[in-house]
Amino acid sequence: MSSYWLERAWTGEGPVRDGVLVDVVDGVFTRVVDGPPGDAERVAGLTIPGLANCHSHAFHRALRGRTQRERGTFWTWREQMYAVASTLTPDTYFELARATYREMAAVGITSVGEFHYLHHGPGGTPYDDPNAMSHALVEAAREAGIRIALLDTCYLTAGIGRPPEGVQLRFSDGDADSWAARLLRPPVTDAAGSAAGRGSSDGSTVRWGAAIHSVRAVPRDQMPTVAAWADQHRAPLHVHLSEQVAENEACLTAYGATPTEVLAQAGALGRRTTAVHATHLTAFDVALLGGSRTRACFCPTTERDLGDGIGPSRRLLEAGAPLTLGSDSHAVIDLFEEMRAVELDERLATRERGHWSAEELLGAATYDGHESLGFDGAGRIAVGARADLVTLDTATVRTAGTGADTGTAVFAASGADVVRVLRDGTDITPDAGDLGVELDRVIRRLLP
Ligand SMILES: [Zn+2]
Repeated sequence: MSSYWLERAWTGEGPVRDGVLVDVVDGVFTRVVDGPPGDAERVAGLTIPGLANCHSHAFHRALRGRTQRERGTFWTWREQMYAVASTLTPDTYFELARATYREMAAVGITSVGEFHYLHHGPGGTPYDDPNAMSHALVEAAREAGIRIALLDTCYLTAGIGRPPEGVQLRFSDGDADSWAARLLRPPVTDAAGSAAGRGSSDGSTVRWGAAIHSVRAVPRDQMPTVAAWADQHRAPLHVHLSEQVAENEACLTAYGATPTEVLAQAGALGRRTTAVHATHLTAFDVALLGGSRTRACFCPTTERDLGDGIGPSRRLLEAGAPLTLGSDSHAVIDLFEEMRAVELDERLATRERGHWSAEELLGAATYDGHESLGFDGAGRIAVGARADLVTLDTATVRTAGTGADTGTAVFAASGADVVRVLRDGTDITPDAGDLGVELDRVIRRLLP
């Protein structure tokens, strides 16, 4: 058993408390009480539950600082992203993902949802192990010490009615049945050496899930196969939704329905589903998402980088769709920045303040995020929950004098203020100096 005395803690409910004593046995909290430290290890600063980064494309990390230089659109950015995708092998993807996941661990992220579509070799030829790329990502997360929900993404078309082209051939399984058949290959093994098991919700650090890339990339008649796989395996189902106006227009032209309506008709909405971006929605779309209890994953630092727009986060919540957060393209990996961006973007869009409380945004980044990835027992400091602890230094130039409160975490802190990270009771804090060297080395190899 390990015991920690948290000087200040936000446990997932109520206000920040002084002097919280926690016991950890086998990676799970067995006691959470207010009281004196006794023999427990003293943890100074403000401690919160582990953060869930619900939308990641690990290889996009290589593009940071390179694609922001010029004008251009989402679509020209995508060409640069495809150039990196075309070079990756299971070995280089493993190295890049491991460094990226270590960067996540360093800023308090204990679980990642990897929206993974780079499945096959050049020209679309499957690897000997057709899930070699998935296995590279799972191994990368294991070595970085974070949990991964591997959201294996069905990607079949370049656009509605258009076959995949160029690097997209590496994404496609041909049809949804072949996508599902590939997932029937033997599961990988998790860190503890036990079969992770697709759809399992035990103490493993690996969770298998599904994704429909978008209405652009999965024909309407193929979507039910993916949704049925997720239902059958009780697995998370994620989908990019209405990030671009052009996507909505193409969908309306082809199907006479919005992307949200198409997903609803395909049976792809519901409590298991997370709609990523959810930027350009009609009032009816908001009602469909909320009524089905579909979650909405906002990625504000990516959405602002790409000029996507500002989605209706508060209206979605009030309709019934909980918020989660992701760093998506990794222009920034910092869930503190994503949290405050949700509120600050709403202020810009409405010219009013006070849409989201700090506690609500912390809930999105912790327990709601973990639930959307299928790690139900994570994201709270509570008896029976997975023992994740993220500690912020409250005496840095950013956080000093801010009250060591929830407002400190959401409106003052950055990932650089995280000093210690425990995942399932294990310390996964990387050495920040070594990490910079590692990131530089693996990215230079891909993009000299
Ligand atoms: Zn994405």
